Amino acid sequence: MIATAQQIAGIGFTSQRTRTRMVRRLMDRGIENEDVLTVLNTVPRHLFVDEAIASRAYEDVALPIGEGQTISQPYAVARMSEILMQDGPLGKVLEVGTGSGYQAAVLSRLADQVFSVERIQSLLDKARHRFQALQYRNIRTRYSDGGWGWESHGPYDGIMVTAAPRSIPQPLLQQLAVGGRMVIPVGDQSSEQSLTIITRTSAGFASREESNVSFVPFLTGKS
Ligand code: SAH
Repeated sequence: MIATAQQIAGIGFTSQRTRTRMVRRLMDRGIENEDVLTVLNTVPRHLFVDEAIASRAYEDVALPIGEGQTISQPYAVARMSEILMQDGPLGKVLEVGTGSGYQAAVLSRLADQVFSVERIQSLLDKARHRFQALQYRNIRTRYSDGGWGWESHGPYDGIMVTAAPRSIPQPLLQQLAVGGRMVIPVGDQSSEQSLTIITRTSAGFASREESNVSFVPFLTGKS
């Protein structure tokens, strides 16, 4: 079913005005990329969470989406998108951890094509319905363990992982294009994870780390 203009527009706590206020807070926190800010100002985040918590959709917090998972905090979505966009518009992007579908939706407005992989079928089904309702047609999804990437569509100009593994899965490195960039939270759950940014050049891989972040664990296998 296609979402109505009224559903997309929202009211009160889900309105455009509330979304714009969220974007202003993200600017205050240091997000600068104009394209990212514009997209966050348009994608209706309230349609990516259950109706019961839709009124909280524009707070800068992670929210539960069922199955023990969360929709990432807007700041994390913005920052990770901004990192991937550093060298301008993106061709093909791989996301690992579709979850609610919100991050994939944001990426789909910034890249030509988005490929997103999720290991929990029920979450993937809901995300797919949202993409359909919003007519985001350049997102393809797959039910699988994202640790293997999605080789047939690679290599990717950008790879974003939205769950934290203890170390970077090798197949993801292999599927990163030369000139491409990967952003991935690395670390275990007991301590803070660091957002790791890998760039691939013809000479090999370079890596740097950014502030501490907190993501749900990256798990292996399908659930
Ligand atoms: N990007 C999502 C964030 C969801 S939380 C959003 O915008 O809502 C992270 C997601 O990663 C969860 O749905 C979890 O099931 C998924 N995940 C964890 N390990 C995974 C793996 N190995 N392969 C694919 N998905 C995985």
